[in-house]
Amino acid sequence: MKKDRRFETQVIHTGYSSEQHHGSLAPPIYSTSTFVFPDAETGEQRFAGDQDGYIYSRLGNPTVKMLEERIAVLEGGEKGLAFGSGMAAVSAVLLGLTRSQDHILCSQGVYGCTFGLLRMMKDKFDIDHDLIDMSDPEVIETHIRPNTQVIFIETPINPTMTLVDLEMVSQVAARHNIMVVVDNTFCTPYIQRPLSLGCHIVIHSATKYIGGHGDVVAGLVVSDSDTIDMLASTTQKDIGGVMSPFDAWLLLRGLKTLPVRMDRHCDNAIYIANALKAHPSVEHVFYPGNDESSDYYIAQKQMTRPGGVISFTINGGKEDAQKLINTLQLLKIAVSLGDAETLIQHPATMTHAVVPEESRTKMGITDNLIRISVGLESKEDIWEDLEQALEVIKYV
Ligand SMILES: *Cc1c(COP(=O)(O)O)cnc(C)c1O
Repeated sequence: MKKDRRFETQVIHTGYSSEQHHGSLAPPIYSTSTFVFPDAETGEQRFAGDQDGYIYSRLGNPTVKMLEERIAVLEGGEKGLAFGSGMAAVSAVLLGLTRSQDHILCSQGVYGCTFGLLRMMKDKFDIDHDLIDMSDPEVIETHIRPNTQVIFIETPINPTMTLVDLEMVSQVAARHNIMVVVDNTFCTPYIQRPLSLGCHIVIHSATKYIGGHGDVVAGLVVSDSDTIDMLASTTQKDIGGVMSPFDAWLLLRGLKTLPVRMDRHCDNAIYIANALKAHPSVEHVFYPGNDESSDYYIAQKQMTRPGGVISFTINGGKEDAQKLINTLQLLKIAVSLGDAETLIQHPATMTHAVVPEESRTKMGITDNLIRISVGLESKEDIWEDLEQALEVIKYV
């Protein structure tokens, strides 16, 4: 395909040409574990890397490859790599980039299992980490050690929706030759493209917006060719958290509607955030589209739109939060995000229950905090459901 096609075209066409597949409009699912060599010499050449071609599906699969090519172009990187889950992607990247006695600098507040992985890497492999507030470049500088290999960032940070200035952190990292890795799950490349801001590796839990339909668990990584080749031949191949061809097919399908879905997620979330802000039972709304927040300028700088996830605190405590959630009729009580259905959850007792209470409070994850992944339903219906539930806790 012509290189200069626009994003909305690339999500549909990049990585697939029907002419090479009997004219099939939809990509075929190559559901095979292994590939037949025409002769012994071909097998030898493929294993030696002297000839392109497939060998065995943990090392590469045509359907998975289509997806890898597509996500690489969408993120503006050279190559992509697909994994069986977001955490398989995160662990392959962090274990691939570090060795014993190295150090990782991480944004304060990351996905719970990423936090668990960092702790495990410290205990088992002597790979240390610090979780720090990344709003001040001087604070970042003071935490960089001679053995710091990676800066790992989530932005917006889940569930408080705090933002990290990717360009600023990249500039600090560049002075010390440190790789910047960004978990771009909440934004997708439609909203934020970290590689264009100087970051080196982008990771997705494709389970969320990339898939978009709540029917697959998957992960993706995009970077330059050398980095992806290194990961493919080490932590992906030998740890083996690969994606199945069917999941790749679901994601190729999901990606086709990414811009359309993201626009609707954002439109609905802006509407719900404003309605929540005006409600007397709501204490505070955390949303990158909130122009009263101190990091709104970062959203303006690096995000094209504010995204579909909102957190808010209510006037009340844990029981009121649970009562509100239990009173909902349309909204689904579930973790995860990025699906067509609006999902609501209580971080302190669900996604972040493993974080000790003291750290939770420090991170702003209080008992009256609720997170919504705003879905694609009618925004009026979503609000009506929330409003009737907010009425129930109004006079506490
Ligand atoms: C869900 C999620 C992950 C983990 O992805 P899985 O696909 O569940 O393994 C990592 N990072 C973020 C920000 C997530 O939301």
